[in-house]
Amino acid sequence: MQYPEPIAKLIDSYMHLPGIGRKTATRLAFYTVDMNKTDVKNFADALTSTKNDLRFCSICGNITETDPCEICSDPTRDQSKIMVVEQSKDVMTMEKMKDYNGLYHVLHGVLSPIEGKGPEDINISSLIKRLQKNEEVKEVIIATNATPEGEATAMYLAKLIKPAGIKVTRLSHGLSVGSDIEYADEMTLSKAVSGRTEM
Ligand SMILES: [Zn+2]
Repeated sequence: MQYPEPIAKLIDSYMHLPGIGRKTATRLAFYTVDMNKTDVKNFADALTSTKNDLRFCSICGNITETDPCEICSDPTRDQSKIMVVEQSKDVMTMEKMKDYNGLYHVLHGVLSPIEGKGPEDINISSLIKRLQKNEEVKEVIIATNATPEGEATAMYLAKLIKPAGIKVTRLSHGLSVGSDIEYADEMTLSKAVSGRTEM
């Protein structure tokens, strides 16, 4: 027996999400069928809104409703520091810590030879342009995750940026090896930032 088309389509959509296989997608689809109309509408609106109302900041690459984003357009932020992170969600994690008042740059990924991801596939060229244009920047803090890809990306960026006479630092490894920034608690993160070392 085939599922009715709306359900088949929904299962297919859920299967596009990371970590969701056919079984879970089917369960979610039938769960959705049982939800009330308002909840389904809110869910659908939230999905649509992420695409319609959000864009990437033209300066730092972070997701934002306004361009430039709130952080890039805030004159009270320390313009001499740029922290480079893998994902927009890492910016949120760092902001929760409240210890860091500099700017950010979101790479939207890491270098990964296995996945065929090179420097042109992540948001690196705009970082370099940003550094060339902005003489105020004195330090680039590389906060990619402590994974092999995160480390390789950090090394690559350090090599690229250091010749310009800008200090390049890396978060200290209170963060355990292989760990993602998003899973670190605020205390650990705060120590990793304050104990950062020059590359
Ligand atoms: Zn921005």
